[in-house]
Amino acid sequence: MQGHFVDNRHYPASSGLSIPMIDPSDGQVFDAIARGNADDVNGAVSAARRCQQTIWSRLPAVDRGRLLMRLSNAVVAHADELAAIEQRDCGKPTRQANADVAALARYLEFYSGACDKLHGVTIPYLDGYSVLTWREPHGVTGHIIPWNYPLQIFGRSVGGALAAGNSCVLKPAEDACLSLIRVAQLAAAVGFPAGAINVVTGYGHEAGDALVRHPDIGHISFTGSAAVGTLVARSAAERHCPVTLELGGKSPQIVFADADLDIALPAIVNAIIQNAGQTCSAGSRLLVEHPVYETVLSRLAQAFVKLRAGPARLDLDLGPLIRLTQQQRVRSMLAQAQASGIEILAEGQIIDQAPPTGFYQAPVLMRDVPSDSALVQEEVFGPVLVAASFRDEDDAIELANATRFGLVAGVWTHDGSRQFRIARQVRCGQVFVNNYGAGGGVEIPFGGVKSSGYGREKGFEALYGFTTLKSVAIRHG
Ligand code: NAD
Repeated sequence: MQGHFVDNRHYPASSGLSIPMIDPSDGQVFDAIARGNADDVNGAVSAARRCQQTIWSRLPAVDRGRLLMRLSNAVVAHADELAAIEQRDCGKPTRQANADVAALARYLEFYSGACDKLHGVTIPYLDGYSVLTWREPHGVTGHIIPWNYPLQIFGRSVGGALAAGNSCVLKPAEDACLSLIRVAQLAAAVGFPAGAINVVTGYGHEAGDALVRHPDIGHISFTGSAAVGTLVARSAAERHCPVTLELGGKSPQIVFADADLDIALPAIVNAIIQNAGQTCSAGSRLLVEHPVYETVLSRLAQAFVKLRAGPARLDLDLGPLIRLTQQQRVRSMLAQAQASGIEILAEGQIIDQAPPTGFYQAPVLMRDVPSDSALVQEEVFGPVLVAASFRDEDDAIELANATRFGLVAGVWTHDGSRQFRIARQVRCGQVFVNNYGAGGGVEIPFGGVKSSGYGREKGFEALYGFTTLKSVAIRHG
């Protein structure tokens, strides 16, 4: 049984209640976490506030940076251990678990170097005055983290907030949080002061809601579904607390007839099977220019039938989905689509050795999926790629923008002018041209428009969100 990690110590849930942890590869319970409530959140926020007021806000930026670098080094030193925890908790194939640990170390490295480079400006004003700006931390920041990439999202969210001088309380997802408890322990071991990083585990409607409503939280970073993002933003608005919302996506891959298919197609496959399709920026919609539509589909179908899903430790193309309800949701969306006449063009396999109690879903390629289908409009959060053809650039843009989401887009063409035209017109937060980095690029600002959210994390841009700007006007004559 794992407790909360607050003030650099483990605490049991004050309620005495726990939540079972289930291994998605076999559906079996292997551990339990504390079921946190508002009292536990109060304790964590008090610890973070104490730390903020007594130590963290007084620590020179260069020293915050050194601590983050020490944590980055500790993550590298414990890479195998962290990857093994993440693998069991989330059902990640070994390569994905290793990549997530490497990304966490890199986020911490990036933000360690950024701490002492967050500068204000001086502003020309009236004669006899000096005006300057300070970038100040919000104080205590709250971080609500989903189960699909706990380590990576800790790196980009908590890493950025710490670099900007905030102390943090995080509420990881109830399905997967063990790796973050371990990272918080490592932070304590490398010298982070008590209260700088606090982890309260539990359900979203209990611990998560209490964190969002807490009056001493100065900023909320929420990563999760659009539906819960709405609840979080509404609660935060009641006390005018700023929020960053990193929500879902339905990201298009737009393939023109002049694209280099040898490069595009493997990237398109990878962008939908990575993490078994449970990636906010998964390239889940394929739009192909009419002349190459059949060629693209036939080559993708050949690739899909070879894909294999199985237990995470076997490191196949895909691991399991996170939980039974997610598996049921994907199956039900596929069944409804088939009942409406949409054709499955190709399907991968679940290997025979996969335990029947695991939450597996074979990757699926569907063709001619109409724009108003739920598979096009809603996040499936599984390895399902839906394809449709387009006539010309205008048609491609219209289809690409025809969902409520706007997170990422991929554009595949060698026409340089067209690359810019499409990148300009597609409504989203990130565009990849002739490459696709689902979740990639620690340095590149990331976030959405429309129902994919607002605010930016990753890169230096995140530090502006994790601070507030104060202008100071001094009349000195
Ligand atoms: P979710 O919204 O169900 O849960 C996310 C987190 O919110 C969890 O920690 C959960 O406990 C918490 N939560 C739930 N109800 C809450 C409430 N009432 N108040 C406060 N917190 C609450 O999402 P999920 O199923 O865990 O994650 C998948 C979703 O996350 C997908 O939609 C995916 O696209 C999105 N996501 C987005 C990004 C991004 O950067 N844009 C990254 C990863 C995942």
